[in-house]
Parts: sequence; C-alpha cells; structure tokens
Amino acid sequence: MYAVAEVVDEACVAKKGCRLCIMYCPEANTILFNKENQVAEVVEQRCKGCELCVVVCSSAKHNAIRLVHR
Ligand code: SF4
Ligand code: SF4
Repeated sequence: MYAVAEVVDEACVAKKGCRLCIMYCPEANTILFNKENQVAEVVEQRCKGCELCVVVCSSAKHNAIRLVHR
C-alpha cells in the first residue's frame, strides 16, 4: 500500500483563488488547477504522499485534501 493525496471537490476553494496546495507541493506538476471543474487536482502517479498539501490546506481550515491508501 502507498498513500496519495486526493482533493474533496466540494470543499476545495480553488475557485475563489486558493492555490496553497499547488504552491507547497514539492513535486513538479503534481497538483494542478482543473479549470473546467475549478478545483485542485492531484496527479496520482506523481504524488509521493508527503502530506504537505494536507497540512497547508487544513491549516487554512479548508480541509479539502486528504491522504488515501492505494
Ligand atoms: S489548498 Fe485546499 S482548498 Fe486550496 S486549492 Fe488546495 S485543495 Fe483546494
Ligand atoms: S502528498 Fe506531497 S507530493 Fe502528494 S500532492 Fe500532496 S504535497 Fe504533493
């Protein structure tokens, strides 16, 4: 099993301009802004499960990204 980040679309406030997870993710091109759905989106194949995005999103009280196990 390994962990990857997953965005809870209904909770994500990227449509209001939030880009915290995108800015803080240390892996290149791993969290992207989905323009069509106006939410952040994790590219699972690139995610290392480091949890940094979860920490910044929950620190900002959005709680819109979590780790899931595959
Ligand atoms: S930090 Fe959270 S609320 Fe902000 S864009 Fe990322 S998932 Fe969405
Ligand atoms: S868990 Fe780490 S590598 Fe994966 S999307 Fe979040 S910040 Fe990026």
